[in-house]
Amino acid sequence: MSDYRKMWQDLGVNLEKHDEFLAPVPSLYGDLFVSQQNRPEGMKYFDFVMSEVHGLRVKELLDMKDDPSKKVVGAFCVFVPEELVLATGGACIGLCGGAQYSVPIGEKVLPRAMCPLIKSSLGFKVGGVCPYFEVADFVVGETTCDGKKKAYEVLNEYHPTYVMELPQKRDQADKELWLKEVYAFKDKMEAEAGKTITAEKLTAAVKLANDRRRVLQRLYDARKVDPVPISGKDAALITQLAFFDDPARFTEKTTALCAELEQRIEKGEGVFPKGAPRILITGTPMPLPSWKMHNIIESSGGVVVCEESCTGTRYFETLVDETPTTLPEQMEALSQRALNINCACYTPNTGRIDDILRMVKEYNVDGVVYYSLQFCHTYGIEYRAAEKALQQAGVPVIRIETDYSDEDSGQLQTRIQAFLEMLK
Ligand code: SF4
Ligand code: SF4
Repeated sequence: MSDYRKMWQDLGVNLEKHDEFLAPVPSLYGDLFVSQQNRPEGMKYFDFVMSEVHGLRVKELLDMKDDPSKKVVGAFCVFVPEELVLATGGACIGLCGGAQYSVPIGEKVLPRAMCPLIKSSLGFKVGGVCPYFEVADFVVGETTCDGKKKAYEVLNEYHPTYVMELPQKRDQADKELWLKEVYAFKDKMEAEAGKTITAEKLTAAVKLANDRRRVLQRLYDARKVDPVPISGKDAALITQLAFFDDPARFTEKTTALCAELEQRIEKGEGVFPKGAPRILITGTPMPLPSWKMHNIIESSGGVVVCEESCTGTRYFETLVDETPTTLPEQMEALSQRALNINCACYTPNTGRIDDILRMVKEYNVDGVVYYSLQFCHTYGIEYRAAEKALQQAGVPVIRIETDYSDEDSGQLQTRIQAFLEMLK
């Protein structure tokens, strides 16, 4: 890796904290990822991206900003219409919030009784730990839950924060509200970039973002097969990196990996023995570097074959309609995508339960791990409906409520092992 210290320092990163945060990553990554048996060759690219995670991509974004009309926007939610950023020539980065390291820093400005995702993401900024935050011209928050909504008021004291109001229902009034929000974001991007978003530019941006969604769908299709040609850990990592990487390059590299996986499928080659218990994880997002659940499941003899999550299927299953050619129709299509995502911020949200049941069949799932972060009420409450539907369908389910620390790892391992044992 090149020496990026000057770049980090110029960006305003706190080098001491940054070193402390990154120090354990190479050995952790080696243990969790590189040491896996029979990994696909195509994972080498993603290993490289990880080895350069705070380096090369940050530099690319900085270089991009030599053109002042190109903006870097940080986002936390899959509802944010990143196509409008791409249409101005800018980049949209999904900011992290999956590290225990930044949680205590977040707790300096937020109450402790909040979900670790919020505390971790704010901690990255408050501690000056994340170069992506520093390179972002502004960040886009959204009103997913009360925690996030209020935390963005605090974040705005540290970094320019623009908040989008998410729809809560799918009635006409909600559709109109969200369409207005998408238009307001378009105005914001045009003002920031000093450019007009044309139908032509938006067409290209929609295609770019959809191509990435399509290749992730292809990756997940490969996971439907037994034996599975790629570990859940690797697949989850790829999805996490999709939020950072250049979209066209990511699509190209993931396409090559998928071709390799499809060859493996033809030969009946897998990374776990045929018949290993197949697990669907459903619940709250698992942003980088939250690898705890996958690691526990896969080191206990199970294999994660799908994530019904914002760092999983909710991220890519819904495409933006590519047929409209006029700007008003395109804006409608953009806004419609969010309305088709079954996020727990909606009430009611029965579509998510339907999705879980559908995925159980599509991915030949043996058991479901319902994962929710501590203090996450939206996903915590939806457990009741999910459990009931899964029980009725005869699908075993276990609820895991946890945080990013390792304190409960031993206990979780014991519970997961017992769950997997029951599935055999
Ligand atoms: S849970 Fe909902 S609000 Fe949160 S990132 Fe996912 S889609 Fe966005
Ligand atoms: S995990 Fe739950 S509590 Fe945390 S930000 Fe997401 S919806 Fe809100």
